[in-house]
Amino acid sequence: MNTQIGNNSGNIIMGGILTECNEFSINLMTQENFDRYEYFEDEKILTLKNGVVGGMLSILNKTPFNISPTVFASCSPGGVITDECYFNIKDKIISKIEKVKDIKAIILPMHGAAVTETIGDLEGDMVTSIRKIVGPEIPIVVTLDLHAHVTEEMVSQSSAIIAWETYPHLDPYETGIRGAKILQSILEDNIKPTMFFSKVPLLHSAINASTFGNTPFAKSMNNLKEEEKNNKDVLSTSFIHVDPYIDQKFMGGGAIVITNNNLNLAEEISLKHTKDYWDRRQEFEPNLYKPDEAILKGLSKKENILLVETADACGGGAAGDSVNALKKLIDLSANQKSLVHVVDPEAIKKLEDYDVGQKCEINLGHNIDNQWGYPIKIKVKIEKITDGQFTYNGGIWNGMVGNMGPSVLVTYKKIHIIISSYGTYEWNCEQFLSFNLDLDSFKFIVVKNPMNYKNSFKHYKEIYVLDTPGPTPPTCKHLKFKKMNNYFPKNTDLKFEDILLCYHN
Ligand SMILES: [Zn+2]
Repeated sequence: MNTQIGNNSGNIIMGGILTECNEFSINLMTQENFDRYEYFEDEKILTLKNGVVGGMLSILNKTPFNISPTVFASCSPGGVITDECYFNIKDKIISKIEKVKDIKAIILPMHGAAVTETIGDLEGDMVTSIRKIVGPEIPIVVTLDLHAHVTEEMVSQSSAIIAWETYPHLDPYETGIRGAKILQSILEDNIKPTMFFSKVPLLHSAINASTFGNTPFAKSMNNLKEEEKNNKDVLSTSFIHVDPYIDQKFMGGGAIVITNNNLNLAEEISLKHTKDYWDRRQEFEPNLYKPDEAILKGLSKKENILLVETADACGGGAAGDSVNALKKLIDLSANQKSLVHVVDPEAIKKLEDYDVGQKCEINLGHNIDNQWGYPIKIKVKIEKITDGQFTYNGGIWNGMVGNMGPSVLVTYKKIHIIISSYGTYEWNCEQFLSFNLDLDSFKFIVVKNPMNYKNSFKHYKEIYVLDTPGPTPPTCKHLKFKKMNNYFPKNTDLKFEDILLCYHN
């Protein structure tokens, strides 16, 4: 492959893997997961207009450098990525890089919390492998989700790490722009990015970690961002809230600060904001309800009720196959109009033999990840059958077609259940809406994500976060880590000085 076409100021390599893994889920990720979302090689990557890659290209296309695309693979989170899948993609990226002459820089749109069966830090492995090929002088810029497990390897081997600034994630495109701009400044203005990351083992779910409103995480993010405005030597800041659903040593969150060749300043600012984050650790623990408690409380209210079963969030890598909330709706409220989504390819196989209007008995739930509950045997009526396709309306995959696979809407008394073949990232209730449902007509809706439901249900006043079992629970007190021992909230007497970790490049 000769990528030295067009511009001749040298090549910027682009490519990466962007997905989040969950080590408490047994829902293994393979090439098929990427094929259902985004898997692009070579010049096809250059056609992307949206997302982080679109943002990068909007800047880099205007530079005198040639862009050498490799592979870009992104998909909805799942369990861990199989080694076969990862090494296949990695080998392609590496072999494409090895063929490019006159490499000037590397830009990698990644996530930061990806894990394979044997590699606990996919991004660190990728950056280190590329660094070995290109040597110490070539700039490597990495963009990450703010839900990243930022490791010493990532920080020491890259020139700059830029993370998304918003959660819900509205800014992958803008983050691509920020990453490309810092790369452009390294190449054209001769800046020397000096990066310092301090982190603390504060493990919390996303429930109180929006970057909007008055949440403790919004305070951390906003205060850190002020430093960019106040000091011209600060090139970039990123606040990291580690995805708590992987199981690796030294997990934690804190402030990444990049200055122009001023390590002391980067260190000073990073430490100040990481300490503030630690000091507000108590604020991250959410108020929780048992499902029966929430349903009974909801029945006593006249408003519509959202039941947030975040322990089964596909967007955090869960299978989406839990029926723990559904079971309680059946027991306590089957004559109230309710809506639940359950991913269950086994049930779909059985339902495929029936037509709309017919009834069928199925064993529903926990058929992908059986660690978190038991299936329920129910006789349901088939209301609607679809191919499970929908179009994302905003977020990371704005405009892209999502694919739940063959899907069926069934009812049990007044409970409406969407059953689909594959789990999909939720953004704006596109999955519900693909069945033409009037969401405001339901007394109870079970949403299975910690945050993005707010995109669709801003007008809801009665919202109960459920304390149910699953691989993406609302509190990290429930997680049984093998590689993490000392962390808040499991240990409440940890001292900042004793648990602080610092890395720089
Ligand atoms: Zn995220």
